[in-house]
Amino acid sequence: MGKPKYIFVTGGVTSSLGKGIIAASLAKLLQAQKFRVTIQKFDPYINVDPGTMNPYEHGECYVTTDGAETDLDLGHYERFLNLKTSQANNVTTGRVYQNVIEKERRGEFLGKTVQVIPHITNEIKSRMLLLGETGDYDIVITEIGGTVGDIESLPYIESVRQLIWDLGKENALVIHLTLIPYLAASGELKTKPTQHSVKTLMESGIAADIIVCRTEYDLPVDLRQKIALFCNVKLEAVIQSIDVETIYDVPLKMLEEGLNRVVLEKLQLKAKQEPDLTEWKQFLEKFKNPKEKIKIGLVGKYVELQDSYKSILESLFHAGAKNETQVDIISIHSEEVDHASEAELLSQVDGVLVAPGFGERGIEGKITAVQYARENKIPFLGICLGMQMAVIEYARNCAGIAKANSTEMDPDCEAPVIDLMESQKTILSKGGTMRLGAWDCQLEKDSLVYSIYQKEIIAERHRHRYEFNETFADKIFDDDFKVVGTNPETQLVEIVENKSHPWFVGVQFHPEYESTVAEPHPLFVAFIKAALTYSLSKQNN
Ligand code: GLN
Repeated sequence: MGKPKYIFVTGGVTSSLGKGIIAASLAKLLQAQKFRVTIQKFDPYINVDPGTMNPYEHGECYVTTDGAETDLDLGHYERFLNLKTSQANNVTTGRVYQNVIEKERRGEFLGKTVQVIPHITNEIKSRMLLLGETGDYDIVITEIGGTVGDIESLPYIESVRQLIWDLGKENALVIHLTLIPYLAASGELKTKPTQHSVKTLMESGIAADIIVCRTEYDLPVDLRQKIALFCNVKLEAVIQSIDVETIYDVPLKMLEEGLNRVVLEKLQLKAKQEPDLTEWKQFLEKFKNPKEKIKIGLVGKYVELQDSYKSILESLFHAGAKNETQVDIISIHSEEVDHASEAELLSQVDGVLVAPGFGERGIEGKITAVQYARENKIPFLGICLGMQMAVIEYARNCAGIAKANSTEMDPDCEAPVIDLMESQKTILSKGGTMRLGAWDCQLEKDSLVYSIYQKEIIAERHRHRYEFNETFADKIFDDDFKVVGTNPETQLVEIVENKSHPWFVGVQFHPEYESTVAEPHPLFVAFIKAALTYSLSKQNN
């Protein structure tokens, strides 16, 4: 295979059209034709990474194995492709500027005036080419965040223009994703916003090669012809992306529309085979035709925004499909859970998942939810903060440590069962300083988790600052509540289990970042299975 080919995905008209899903779907099709593909995301905001952003602003922060805090679209890439991404797959304006400014301070620009063009654009271009230069990929897809016409996007669009010029038309192409709105009053689909956004792109010197149109209704041929004519693309390069039941339908829809075919033709690539989507279709078949149905209560403080727990939701769906079970997620706001409301909120669910999180808001509700799940023997999975709350709950209600708390919530608490590691106490900077990325964990052989993972050493991704405080181990853990997973080097507590409960697991790490369509995460699969067993036993009683 020769040099890699580059595909750039831009967005027009509005944000949130699903560029990430289109990019991931195209990558899936090309991967299914035996091309080696990767996807990277360039975000125009000034934050160095999304790690310090509120989930309400930007949805979940996705963590890669190498410990990068990244945009949630990387989660889609991994879930669709079953491939690992890394720091190199997500670049922000903040990071680009940080790098350029550091170079300037080191004197690398030899006294020149440092400018957006060429210094910022050169930095962007070199990062756009980085993964391609590894020799590991035939095709690199680059998603440009934001919408064309935004001030912030300009240096990226200019970099893409230059790169196409450098690489040659046959080695690079642009897919522009736009919206075709439907006007209910006149019953019409409208192409004008698309024409305008393609024109905006043109003003920056970029002619879109393929136009993917998000639409609620089928685009008739005459409308496609109109888009082709006014936007200067061939008819087959006008691709319809109609609203679908699930994001996992999109690769099949793109296949029907021939997106991969048009891409390969433009890039002058010959595929070894037609896309083999057998496994993907098997997943969809199970996902869409469940035999059973269960409810999982997701207890968190960001539940109003679905994107805040994106990876958890997708992991639950993967695990549901594996169990041929429909998983209905009941979002439960942690601030609303207390002893008065617990039965109403939680008695209906077949499994309780206490979500990760930061800060004090809603934590008493999380602790109450843990207690309810523990006492009522409802399958329980606590993730990160959820695991920490499970420890505090047991300490308070079973080990007689009434004042147990985390120093994150109460820095002066009498019984800091969850506390900062010594190495974290001197860190003042918030960005990128948590315990991040994949760390090993050794499992106790005599445990539920060992029977689930079927191996002794696992590696899971982390994103937290606080840890179980070892000095409380003897007071809290007993024959029921046990540590069943620890970091082999530091002995930090990674997993707790309750042996007198049918399925009660708390994990300090984030299993949700590892679940993919091809390989649903074993912990989620087992959790859903336990919830199904619980649900069936409830029905029989
Ligand atoms: N806030 C907790 C910590 O920093 C948990 C983090 C999380 O749930 N990701 O340790």
